Amino acid sequence: MQSFQHYIGGDFKEAATHFDSLDPATEQPWAKMPSASVADVNAAVASAQNAFLSPEWALMSATARGKLLMRLADLVAENAQSLAELETRDTGKIIRETSAQIAYVADYYRYYAGLADKIEGAHLPIDKPDMEVWLRREPIGVVAAVVPWNSQLFLSAVKIGPALAAGCTVVLKASEEGPAPMLEFARIFDQAGFPKGVLSVLTGGPDIGAALTSHPDVAHVAFTGGPETARHIVRNSAENLASTSLELGGKSPFIVFDDADLESAVNAQVSGVFAATGQSCVSGSRLVVQAGIKDAFLARLKEKAEAVVMGSPDDMATEVGPLCTKAQRDNAMALIEKSVSQGAKVITGGQLPQGKGFYFPPTILDCDNAPDAASLSAEFFGPVLSVVSFETEAEAIEIANNTQFGLASGVFTQNLTRAHRMIRAIRAGIVWVNTYRAVSPIAPFGGHGLSGHGREGGIEAALDYTKVKAVWLRTSDDPIPDPFVMR
Ligand code: NAD
Repeated sequence: MQSFQHYIGGDFKEAATHFDSLDPATEQPWAKMPSASVADVNAAVASAQNAFLSPEWALMSATARGKLLMRLADLVAENAQSLAELETRDTGKIIRETSAQIAYVADYYRYYAGLADKIEGAHLPIDKPDMEVWLRREPIGVVAAVVPWNSQLFLSAVKIGPALAAGCTVVLKASEEGPAPMLEFARIFDQAGFPKGVLSVLTGGPDIGAALTSHPDVAHVAFTGGPETARHIVRNSAENLASTSLELGGKSPFIVFDDADLESAVNAQVSGVFAATGQSCVSGSRLVVQAGIKDAFLARLKEKAEAVVMGSPDDMATEVGPLCTKAQRDNAMALIEKSVSQGAKVITGGQLPQGKGFYFPPTILDCDNAPDAASLSAEFFGPVLSVVSFETEAEAIEIANNTQFGLASGVFTQNLTRAHRMIRAIRAGIVWVNTYRAVSPIAPFGGHGLSGHGREGGIEAALDYTKVKAVWLRTSDDPIPDPFVMR
């Protein structure tokens, strides 16, 4: 079996205890993973704090930080194949996706490399003639980053990139499910030439996440995961009064009007809910379709869902692989059974295949006669689509917004004025019009409500890792007047 180590304070460290990681396609252990202790967390945070205060990092120019990030981006690109293969092996995410995703992971580091020396302060036109006032944007401090198993290289790049660009240091806790790509990433990071302690990477379960996110020297917690865990994180951060950015789940509406380009909408819906085997926070998992085209649309969708190639994640022909864990598969199956008992009708899928591996087939549930079906409100994190139909635009908006989440949304229509009305009316952090699941380092990403707060990607993300210092400089040589009057 392959074995991995933690990366703490710029050194690779053997852990006192280990756990086996399962290959989700075979259900067999394939690697030994280190299991962090609270002492490891404390050592990682201490090294991050030392690095944050060290002249080597604190006085490094932003341009020099950017050059290090650029070197990291090049190293990620050079090692793309091995990183993609490890992520596929350890999480079951199909190789077709991991190899495409790793290319834009490098692009995210490049974007933040370029942004490092463009994070600017401001000069204020202050209302006092003898004062100069300006704002410095300073790094917030030690960042605790906590990520889930799906797309770990990507979800950590959108934290590490902007945090290091802003001058912070980071301790990242990889998911205990499939941590191999992050532990390998640490090996690559080590070659980029950052000062020791700027990044540490360790792994472990909720107790280790709790020890990290409540550590008194942590200034900001950047978290991606489920809403229930986010509540723990917010409680943990009460210990250190750290700020938080929370990227959580979704139950995103995918709205199709009867004037839409149906071929395009069907393809986008397939990608929106079945890609990444449905383990995507932006999954367009609620199809909200205009009643007049519902049957025709579902017929085309069913045909495409049944043609999806389900197979081994390391095969380039595979389109849907296994879910990452057995618990994940059991949870998806239980939600389907509950929804069916509430009146949802299975259009396709919903049956577990025979054989080894945590496979789950593309599934479509018609919920028109089951308005309270669990599948309409709970996140599956699997390839399951729930369908409801509407008659009018107002009804479409009501259904779309009938969720506690607010991450993504899709609108398919050829009507320009309607598209603009929908963009305004939908409560979500992203509205995709006549497209779905498009991302870029330049565009911020994040949600409302149970989908969290804060943004990843774009300039907004880098600003989240800064705090503003207002500087007042008196320009007059005259003595300070009346000390009892505030100026
Ligand atoms: P999870 O919330 O169970 O775990 C996420 C991480 O939090 C893991 O590393 C875990 O060890 C850690 N953790 C668990 N309990 C903790 C605690 N008490 N204190 C600190 N850390 C703790 O999430 P998951 O089930 O692994 O991942 C799926 C979830 O992630 C879904 O809800 C999905 O929508 C969400 N997600 C969101 C985005 C986004 O960008 N918005 C992207 C991907 C996934």
